[in-house]
Amino acid sequence: MENTTNPPTHVAIVPTPGMGHLIPLVEFAKKIIQKHNFMVSFIIPSDGPLSSAQKLFLEKLPPRIDYVVLPPVCFDDLPEDVKIETRISLTVSRSLSSLRDAVQSLVSKKIRLAAFVVDLFGTDAFDVAIEFKISPYIFIPTTAMCLSLFLNLSKLDESVPCEFRDMSEKVHIPGCMPIHGSDLLDPLQDRKNDAYKWVLHHSKRYRMAEGIILNSFKELEPGAIQYLQEQETGKPPVYCVGPLIQMGSKSENNDESVCLKWLNEQPSGSVLYISFGSGGTLSHEQMIEIALGLDMSEQRFLWVIRCPNDTANATYFSIQNSGDPLAYLPPGFLDRTKGRGLVVPSWAPQAQILSHGSTGGFLSHCGWNSTLESIVNGVPLIAWPLYAEQRSNAVMLTEDVKVALRPKFNENGLVTRLEIAKVVKGLMEGEEGKAIRSRMRDLKDAAAKVLSDDGSSTKSLAELCSKWKSNIST
Ligand code: UDP
Repeated sequence: MENTTNPPTHVAIVPTPGMGHLIPLVEFAKKIIQKHNFMVSFIIPSDGPLSSAQKLFLEKLPPRIDYVVLPPVCFDDLPEDVKIETRISLTVSRSLSSLRDAVQSLVSKKIRLAAFVVDLFGTDAFDVAIEFKISPYIFIPTTAMCLSLFLNLSKLDESVPCEFRDMSEKVHIPGCMPIHGSDLLDPLQDRKNDAYKWVLHHSKRYRMAEGIILNSFKELEPGAIQYLQEQETGKPPVYCVGPLIQMGSKSENNDESVCLKWLNEQPSGSVLYISFGSGGTLSHEQMIEIALGLDMSEQRFLWVIRCPNDTANATYFSIQNSGDPLAYLPPGFLDRTKGRGLVVPSWAPQAQILSHGSTGGFLSHCGWNSTLESIVNGVPLIAWPLYAEQRSNAVMLTEDVKVALRPKFNENGLVTRLEIAKVVKGLMEGEEGKAIRSRMRDLKDAAAKVLSDDGSSTKSLAELCSKWKSNIST
């Protein structure tokens, strides 16, 4: 902990839409406040009213973090099927003028900003940072593998003549195990789509940053992080500060206490937690197969459900979708599983659930925050990716790090109830599950070590903060 008699150093953070971006950026802000005497202003571009989960989250921000939500941008001109990466990028690029006003308002209060941090799709905001002569930084809320890919995307773009998914060979991302083109992140699957052009655009601008902050750690992704830390002309220094995750804390929120009270009554390590993140949705057919598979597995479970939707990321911008999700469950399911299963609509206190002793497995969409939360708590995974970079995360977790089982889809793109029952039993009771659990415990220990006082992530954060402080003193 630092001497806090000096005035705090001030940093601006501009998150792009999505709880998976906001949550780790807030955790990062909390760390630099608590350990290094910073103040943080969040300037939040938006494309509509905040969801209740977002509002609740922002209302609970600790002192020394203030925030302003920018006026929502208008998307009336966009087609219905616009991809999320395009919409996220446009939210920032169409907010530049109000972002400029927000920075001007800080500057006019004589606040000197030591750094201006955007996340992976927010690089257009660098224009404002540069106008105000503030050092631009990027925060990557996902894998070192993804960052390595982004830093090399323009080379791949020039050298690969076809769609990545049609390549006969696997794609070589520096420092990573080779991966099928079809497992690369969603927006890279159609090079004619605007989402691809946006990702390429941002990846080229990464080199404008004075540094890149990465929410990962070497023991988890040794090859990719070694590559990222090798010096190369034009490659910004990379600060590995992970795993930064939201920690479980006591809360008076009713939905939260229902889950925790129920978990308190379950045996240690017995419950499978099931969630597809903030944006994930399933088809009705798939939802029914999961329910029947859980029923057949005879395991305890806590399942966060949303109304079915054939688009895998239908709630990315809103979290809730309309209607009562419970109405879509198979008849009799809730009665049959009463006592050993709890179904929660829309949103659950994931940090508290994963750190609860009764939780023994996590069926996850492999969003990076969920993955890190599972690792920090030593909870083994069933990997069920849906969109964004989740497929490549799932490949890494099952084939490389080996802390997850992956269910198989049938020829109709469905995971059947039989397959679900098999994989759930396999994780919670089987020999394979035991090996995965033991590897997850090792990773949990490694995560605790990098976050300890003399751990590599703690040192990396200290190095970054001292660089930012010297920005202000010069
Ligand atoms: N989350 C939560 N409750 C939920 C669903 C998600 O608290 O019901 C949190 C979760 O703990 C994580 C974040 O939302 O911190 C989701 O981020 P992730 O990267 O896993 O996935 P995304 O939502 O971005 O796809």
